[in-house]
Amino acid sequence: MTLTTYRKKRNFGVTPEPAGGAPTAKSAGIYAIQKHRATNLHYDFRLEFNGTLLSWAVPKGPSLDPSVKRLAMQVEDHPVEYATFEGVIPEGEYGGGTVLVWDRGTWTPNDTDVKKSLHTGELKFTLNGEKLQGSWVLVRTRGYGHAADRSWLLIKHRDQYASKQDIALQQPRSVASDRLLVDVAREGGGDIEKAATGDPGQPQQRGEASAAIKGSEKDRPASKTKIGSSRRPSIAKS
Ligand code: MN
Repeated sequence: MTLTTYRKKRNFGVTPEPAGGAPTAKSAGIYAIQKHRATNLHYDFRLEFNGTLLSWAVPKGPSLDPSVKRLAMQVEDHPVEYATFEGVIPEGEYGGGTVLVWDRGTWTPNDTDVKKSLHTGELKFTLNGEKLQGSWVLVRTRGYGHAADRSWLLIKHRDQYASKQDIALQQPRSVASDRLLVDVAREGGGDIEKAATGDPGQPQQRGEASAAIKGSEKDRPASKTKIGSSRRPSIAKS
């Protein structure tokens, strides 16, 4: 585990992301997920191991539903300092876009030999985060092309924390600052419109739009309200 690839991809004179110090040998078990509106929206899932953060990009984010498998593409190890990074990566830089700390906490591997679990392609662990808890697994899957050995699936195990709740949609805010992506972009001088496309709100906006349409029906001229009044007897029958 080294940070060579991580550092090669970034210009630390331009991006506010941390360069990271020398990896330490301790394994304190930091867990973090960063929501990242880059070229595509994804959730960066990070587990501290051997002094760096093992990292996977999860396009759809985690699901609490054990029947849902979420693709997780393993990416380069990140420095431990990265776990608290929230802000704007300048456009044109690697990963340019807006980042917020979506979840944080600690993790514990089920099997003590994490290196072996990574090699065999089945890493079972317990999360103790602010949003995600309980038993999870990352399973390597047969991908395709150059990413064949980097494709994993993130799956929730059945336990008391399993749920049908769409947590990515229902809890979009930063656990560090309670901000949405659009807020982080605005305060960090980023692309506000691009960041906003990563925040939920479409269903709510549709709800508001349909409520507005219903409201306007009341104001229709008399000739059109007749259609409405002719419906009333049929409603009364049922
Ligand atoms: Mn990312």
